[in-house]
Amino acid sequence: KSSLLSQHDKMSAQMLASNVAAQAAAGARFGNNASRVSARKAISRAPLGDRRIQAAPRSAFSVSAGSEKKTIKTAIVTGASSGLGLYTAKALIDRGDYHVIMACRSVTKAEEKASELGFDKSSYTVMELELGDLASVRNFVKKFRSSKVAKNFQALICNAAIYYPNAVTPTFTKDGFEETVGVTHLGHFLLANLLLNDLANAPDLGIDKRLCIVGSVTANTNTVAGQVPPRANLGNMSGLGAGLSGDTNKNAMIDGDRFIGPKAYKDAKLCNILTVKEMHSRYHEETGITFSSMYPGCIADTPLFRNHTPVFRFLFPLLQKYVTKGYVSMSEAGGRLASVVCNPTYTESGAYWAWKGGGDQLWDNYWDNDNREEAFNNKTSKEGGDMLKAKEMFDMSVTAVKLKPNEIGPKAGTKIPSLSIPNLFGGN
Ligand code: NDP
Repeated sequence: KSSLLSQHDKMSAQMLASNVAAQAAAGARFGNNASRVSARKAISRAPLGDRRIQAAPRSAFSVSAGSEKKTIKTAIVTGASSGLGLYTAKALIDRGDYHVIMACRSVTKAEEKASELGFDKSSYTVMELELGDLASVRNFVKKFRSSKVAKNFQALICNAAIYYPNAVTPTFTKDGFEETVGVTHLGHFLLANLLLNDLANAPDLGIDKRLCIVGSVTANTNTVAGQVPPRANLGNMSGLGAGLSGDTNKNAMIDGDRFIGPKAYKDAKLCNILTVKEMHSRYHEETGITFSSMYPGCIADTPLFRNHTPVFRFLFPLLQKYVTKGYVSMSEAGGRLASVVCNPTYTESGAYWAWKGGGDQLWDNYWDNDNREEAFNNKTSKEGGDMLKAKEMFDMSVTAVKLKPNEIGPKAGTKIPSLSIPNLFGGN
């Protein structure tokens, strides 16, 4: 008990220091442009001492907080009941300074997985989130805001996805969107926009606050994998404009064209990457939040491939392990994604992180596995860097998910969370 108390004391002291900077920054945040910039710099300068204590990275991949002073930060990970999301939660929990909200469609499954991996009960909370239902997304946000751990909110990881590689007819979410884009892009789009203000106004706990949406090599046509047909292409986005509620022949795809399951996945991933770029362009300067996307590598044996044929599921991991060498284990990939939100190396906002070995641009270093730990800011395809398209896609998505004008962008005058955090370690 006394050690918990002293941990609380340390947290309060750290938060007091960082809140002073955050309060000052918040005052200036909605003033003129120059003061916004200096406010952001104040935010990132203020915790430097703290950052040095927490960071001291042994390598860019290191996610361990080591024996340094720990402030418990809250991270939300969607799709944390499986594959990459589950092992990202594990990597953050193993650090010892994160409380992970496992935002999952099946609470029972998430609890089982957490128990299988031996997560300490006080280090995570499972909360229901069905990304194929906008009401569920709003409900999740409401519940999260009323939870004790919301006060230390520092990172949002939008990781969940579905993939129908052989589908030739579309299925739909509760709100009538084609399911792949509805879940993988639109559900996350609503979530990220609703939580933006919470993240912007959360206290500064020593690292830049981060919002990461997982991308994919397959969304980028400047990569080997991205060249495999059907290729990602949002076209004129007439299908998205029409609400993605068409049929097999029309308007179930973003480009308005005939439905092709694997293309819907690649298009959704392209939207994930463009969302990050647009959020960076709209909100980074004002909020100081670091927005990023990433490609974790080919985790060829996760349940993402559950809808593929058994032959594919047998051969694909072998191909990735022994031929392309692009294979990454769930544990390694989870470490990569965790590092993007907690490692001081990855503070470049608007970046699209990738690691050598399969994630690179067309043929460049494709088989280069030398440094698997340190990410580089990868080039997206031409479409993935098209900021006019990013803006248009963002605005269309706002309409699709029915975001209200007062829900768009960070708000001035939002109360900065109080300094006392009663019973933060009170379990889940
Ligand atoms: P998994 O299928 O293992 O995990 C996907 C997660 O998303 C699961 O937790 C799943 O829940 C959840 N999910 C699916 N549908 C919904 C929904 N409607 N609402 C809420 N959650 C949902 O796949 P991966 O771990 O492989 O994929 C994770 C991320 O990594 C994805 O964004 C994917 O695009 C990306 N990625 C994966 C690669 C790979 O090689 N595997 C390569 C590049 C990117 P449940 O457990 O209930 O099924």
